[in-house]
Amino acid sequence: MANEDVVDAYGHVSLRNPEAPERFFLAHSKSPALIEASDIVEHTLDGQAYQPEQRPLYLERFIHAAIYEARPDIMAVVHAHAEDVLPFGITQAKLRPVIHSGAFIGAEVPLWDIAERFGDRTNLLVTNMDQGRDLARTLAGHNVALMRGHGFAAAARSLIDVVRMSVYLPRNARVQHKAMQLGELKPLSVGEINARAAGTGYKPQSPETQRAWQYWAQRAGCAELLKQR
Ligand SMILES: [Zn+2]
Repeated sequence: MANEDVVDAYGHVSLRNPEAPERFFLAHSKSPALIEASDIVEHTLDGQAYQPEQRPLYLERFIHAAIYEARPDIMAVVHAHAEDVLPFGITQAKLRPVIHSGAFIGAEVPLWDIAERFGDRTNLLVTNMDQGRDLARTLAGHNVALMRGHGFAAAARSLIDVVRMSVYLPRNARVQHKAMQLGELKPLSVGEINARAAGTGYKPQSPETQRAWQYWAQRAGCAELLKQR
């Protein structure tokens, strides 16, 4: 994700524990590119460490906790601040899927404005369960929610799905932004979005999905991790 410019010093990825769905795995407060297996901390659905933990946790771990709490179907969550999506969080322009690889974001991408419920005294970060739950309510059954002046939260049924969506979300935003300078948009239709989702939506082991997984791992210099599985 860092290698694909989705996260930088900030941003995070989590995975629900498949054997204990009331807990999830997320690193302690560390930049994604630097994380190793020993940095992963098991969290509970109220955003606290499951076991005593001395290392500082991410301030925004409540994004993950609240989405897992609200959405039993969700197995993986990404929060990031990718620059190309930010203009769509601070203007009236709605982010839409406009390229085939952007279909995964879904027909509608809701926008969450922390100020609507929490006023103008927040630092825009999601630092408690109340704020996390408010964001999860806006996300509702969608795949991605934009966060005004901040970033996005993406949720999916597998790690591969959420990573793929998070990689193509900023690309889709970039294409849409360029297209808007040229003229009227023709976004994907609901039928096209559904066809795409039916074709490759939730098939983490399909050759098409694994192809992207191998490619990103190779580029990031961690392809050997895939071979260990
Ligand atoms: Zn953030």
